[in-house]
Amino acid sequence: MNQFKPIFLGRAVPGTDLAALSTACNSQKCIRAGGKHNDLDDVGRDTYHHTFFEMLGSWSFNGSYFKAEAIDMAYDLLVNVYGIDPGRLYATYFAGDEDLGLAADEEARECWTRYLPEGRVIGCSAKDNFWEVSEEMKWASPDVFLSHSPSTPRRRIVRPPPIRIRPTHEACACISDVFRLFLSSEKMGDTGPCGPCSEIHYDRIGDRDASSLVNADDPDVIEIWNLVFIQFNRDETSKLASLPARHVDTGMGLERLCSLLQGRRSNYDIDVFAPLFGAISSMSPVGPYGGLVGDDDSTLRDTAYRAVADHARTLTFALADGAVPDNEGRGYVLRRILRRATRYGQQILKCEPGFFAKLVPVVVETFGEAYPELVKNQANIIDIVMEEEQSFSTMLDRGIRYFEDEIKGEKDGEESKKVVSADKAFFLYDTLGFPIDLTELMAQEAGMTIDMVGFAAEMEAQKRRSREARLAARGMGGKRLELIAEQTSWLADGGIPATDDSSKYS
Ligand code: ATP
Ligand code: MG
Ligand code: MG
Ligand code: MG
Repeated sequence: MNQFKPIFLGRAVPGTDLAALSTACNSQKCIRAGGKHNDLDDVGRDTYHHTFFEMLGSWSFNGSYFKAEAIDMAYDLLVNVYGIDPGRLYATYFAGDEDLGLAADEEARECWTRYLPEGRVIGCSAKDNFWEVSEEMKWASPDVFLSHSPSTPRRRIVRPPPIRIRPTHEACACISDVFRLFLSSEKMGDTGPCGPCSEIHYDRIGDRDASSLVNADDPDVIEIWNLVFIQFNRDETSKLASLPARHVDTGMGLERLCSLLQGRRSNYDIDVFAPLFGAISSMSPVGPYGGLVGDDDSTLRDTAYRAVADHARTLTFALADGAVPDNEGRGYVLRRILRRATRYGQQILKCEPGFFAKLVPVVVETFGEAYPELVKNQANIIDIVMEEEQSFSTMLDRGIRYFEDEIKGEKDGEESKKVVSADKAFFLYDTLGFPIDLTELMAQEAGMTIDMVGFAAEMEAQKRRSREARLAARGMGGKRLELIAEQTSWLADGGIPATDDSSKYS
């Protein structure tokens, strides 16, 4: 919604295309793998979250239509156009919130009860039914594409492709990717347009009362569409003020919708994932994808399949838009995802190093027609993924051995050994380039937890050391010290050490 902020805030310049815009629809690429809306931990383990997904949006500006019409049209599209069984639909509405000083959204409730029985129209708290700026939009802010670490001179820095500035109405008509946020002068923040929302959920099983499973993380009762009624602006003091006009912003997950329309129990069983699973299976000696969710070995394999397929899409799409894996900020989000995929692929699926880059052409083949930028940038994406994967593969082997010998090997027996110590987690992070969430994942698989408080203290100490080294370097003007400081801060951000030392794991 970033592009439309000037309209919501009443600042669109009269006489321009933006001010003249009354409705719009789009398909937007979303990445949710960092910050407060971080779906990364769920991805692979459940069947309906991706780190990258496509969100279908529809928009009403300046009251062109509002709540009642948005609900009517949503119901009409799902039931009369797509033919979805209305007996499986549930709707939620904002149940009011004392802290926000807002009453329940009775209007939305009444609109829904015209279509659904009262028991399937459910009031929910602000957590699920009051929409505010979310993290994936911040992820998509322009610095994603420009961020790179000055301490990584060996890596090629890929600049975003030149932008052809389009007339505003054209931009609005084709805002389909995060890259075009460059077009907007408005930056996302914790302030901004917001409002109550009403969501549509679907029961994949049917013929039962599933109302208690709505918003309860049940893989068979999933949220498919969020209708947001934008009518407030949150200012710098966190107060809500009414906007000059009311607007609608809706978002529906394409993969979730397709899973319903194709009669599947999982997003990963829709057509677009089949070529990816086929390609992974042809490189993995452990057998094909089985479509299971649970805790035993076969489901760990399926989790790995889902994560690798998902992450291949995320990396390919983000790199096509000019983002680059990096040691810090948003670039580190991509590096973490790539390392997570590399570990799942090599350790769990027993694929050879280099397998991940081979998935890029599969993503390009599957999505290239709709997203020509994938085709255009394919060679560059393969190069970056290959290089990233190779540089981590050596560390990965050592890290897995270290984890098996020094961490897991000690687990049995004493209860205290079921906690990975901070220094071991930090060694994996700092010396072997294991993002902490990767170590956490491996610890969970081994029935262990990590001393995260201790780990945070190690990180703090590392930052302090690096700051002191930097200050000392400046004071003494010594080139060598500057270099050390730079490398230390790079490592603190999770980079891989450039040189090999002779010890067993590092
Ligand atoms: P959930 O509660 O399932 O995590 P959400 O409330 O965080 O979803 P919204 O922010 O309301 O999702 O996004 C609008 C729509 O986008 C959702 O209704 C859903 O269909 C889809 N969606 C959200 N997150 C994901 C994801 N990680 N993967 C696939 N689709 C998603
Ligand atoms: Mg979510
Ligand atoms: Mg939700
Ligand atoms: Mg939602």
